[in-house]
Amino acid sequence: MSDLTPAQSRLAALNRLKAKQKLASAPSPASAPGQGVQYVNKRQPANVPTSARNMVEHQAQAGDNHGEKGNGKGEEMPMRRDPGLGKYFEYDLSKMKNSRGGFLTEEDVTGDRIKSLKELAAEKERELRQIREGEEPAIVPGRSPTCADCGSLEIDHVFEKTFGVRVCRKCQKEKPEKYSLLTKTECKEDYLLTDPELRDEDLIPHLLRPNPYASNYSNMMLFMRAQVEKVAYEKWGGDEGLDEEWERREEFKKRKREEKFEAGLRDLRKRTRNNLYQRKQDAQHVHEYEDVEQVYDEEEGSTKVVQRCFGCGAEQEMEVL
Ligand SMILES: [Zn+2]
Ligand SMILES: [Zn+2]
Repeated sequence: MSDLTPAQSRLAALNRLKAKQKLASAPSPASAPGQGVQYVNKRQPANVPTSARNMVEHQAQAGDNHGEKGNGKGEEMPMRRDPGLGKYFEYDLSKMKNSRGGFLTEEDVTGDRIKSLKELAAEKERELRQIREGEEPAIVPGRSPTCADCGSLEIDHVFEKTFGVRVCRKCQKEKPEKYSLLTKTECKEDYLLTDPELRDEDLIPHLLRPNPYASNYSNMMLFMRAQVEKVAYEKWGGDEGLDEEWERREEFKKRKREEKFEAGLRDLRKRTRNNLYQRKQDAQHVHEYEDVEQVYDEEEGSTKVVQRCFGCGAEQEMEVL
């Protein structure tokens, strides 16, 4: 405490006072300082799983208690961001300016604001810069670019900047055969384009987007269908050429699969044969005969001389000379 500046001591004293007041006016002993954790647990029904959200609440509660103990930070504790809400921007509405959606106001149109050529050139330059920097330029009827399909002024500037195509979002949705975005894998599988071709920005432009599956994956390359199709048709000789090539490759894949299957079958047969061979080898053991013995054969009414193998018990009749 001796290290505190007078201002810090005052703040600490103030916090202690506040904590005491809070204690005095507390409706139940459950909210006493130091019991915040139990308090949280009591408030939660037993079947509520421990989740990130609960954790945040827990921490916030713990933070309040620190404030009550008088470390002087309680007042400044910012509200914790709930990670369950994902990424979002906290707009400070008090600092936002109404741009009237970028349209000209009544004042702009009817006022005596006749722009000089120089002003217009400067404005054009600013628009281009804004497009380059990803901002959306103001919309000026009669001069702003319009959707190639419906003439709307509300074009998608990302599409214009990336693909050089002026189209509104509504037309993008309504014409997926032209404007839908394809991944690199889709371009390779459906249009039979190669990695080097797809990486060539001059051949087909692409948009980079963070991978939705994992942030540490490389960015996704997205292509506009009409542009991919154009390049693929040039490469393969139109729609028909592409189809033929696709079928040829499917046939090739099918043949490869069959060949692999045949090879597997051959391999299996070979192994089976080897097995039989091995068993035959095992069977060809050399008999080791014990001493000859004389056996009386009742059927023939004669005596035979027989040898029996030690190993397998096989009998062999000896020729009696
Ligand atoms: Zn449109
Ligand atoms: Zn034997």
